[in-house]
Amino acid sequence: MTLLSVRDLVKHYPVRGKGVFRRTTGQVHAVCGVSFDLRRGETLGLVGESGSGKSTTGRAVLNLQAPTSGRVLFDGHDLAAAGAAEMRRLRRRMQIVFQDPYASLDPRMTVGDAVAEPLRIHDAYRQDGHDRVRELLATVGLNPEHGNRYPHEFSGGQRQRVGIARALAMRPELIVLDEPVSALDVSIQAGVVNLLEDLQEQLGLAYLFVAHDLSVVRHIAHRVAVMYLGRIVEIGDTGELFDHPAHPYTQALISAIPLPDPRRERVRARERVIIGGDAPSPVSPPSGCRFRTRCPAFTQLSEGERAVCAERVPELIDRGNGHPAACHYAGGAHARPRP
Ligand code: ADP
Ligand code: MG
Repeated sequence: MTLLSVRDLVKHYPVRGKGVFRRTTGQVHAVCGVSFDLRRGETLGLVGESGSGKSTTGRAVLNLQAPTSGRVLFDGHDLAAAGAAEMRRLRRRMQIVFQDPYASLDPRMTVGDAVAEPLRIHDAYRQDGHDRVRELLATVGLNPEHGNRYPHEFSGGQRQRVGIARALAMRPELIVLDEPVSALDVSIQAGVVNLLEDLQEQLGLAYLFVAHDLSVVRHIAHRVAVMYLGRIVEIGDTGELFDHPAHPYTQALISAIPLPDPRRERVRARERVIIGGDAPSPVSPPSGCRFRTRCPAFTQLSEGERAVCAERVPELIDRGNGHPAACHYAGGAHARPRP
């Protein structure tokens, strides 16, 4: 029942110099060997700090950008091998919703036309096109009578619903949601998240849900993959991963989620795992484990143990935690030294 299969995905972007010839002076290692599967009807959350390669992964999954290397299989079809006609057919089956619905909607187009656009592009706007647009607006909780209005007449949450209706128009099986609620007021986020959950249940959709907000992901995702500097450092079932994070980076991210209860929050604030500074540049990532320069556990290791972190890239394997983590010292005989 695997719908999407991503294997050893790599995406580099050239860094160009400032001179007249804009020579390539290096490579941004945006995604560095990412692999995961997504089943039909499943939500995989993809989390990590800004710049960790989440959006690049999402774009490569939809073949909006060709990867440097690696494979993306959608329902068994290798996207890199698909010809133009096949890609066009596959494209209907996978869609994307962006963070900022205002930027992705044409301000001069009525929302009805915006929702109809994919139908027209794919030559699927027939006699019943008008009804289909009304149905789509109703499906996302908007008044079907409002199709003749313009994006600025809607609130942020309603605009994101228009973006979702557009994505649904071709009856896709997979939707990449790239920070779909990050630009919305917290009070509106829940409504959109609930809508996405209802749609998934009704339509059997698979979601790749990109977010930096872990509490939203905890709510909506069945499984979670944590990215750091272009790599997945930990992946597992949502409950398992949040309750027993094995990688020091995941532990730090989770400990940074504020608790709703102020008293418990004060206690927790003292135990918070702080990771200092900014992530290193993806142009020249650290050798071995990329997280070692900010890792709170690294400082607790012996010199010999640290050498392993500096020299060997940790593989994403289950080291006794029930889910894979890319840390030499996650679980097993080396219980994680709690900072
Ligand atoms: P995220 O979505 O996790 O914030 P991105 O995938 O957008 O991360 O970016 C990963 C890295 O790749 C960042 O360092 C970013 O600056 C770089 N990057 C993204 N898109 C491009 C591009 N078109 N050209 C050059 N560098 C890019
Ligand atoms: Mg992004």
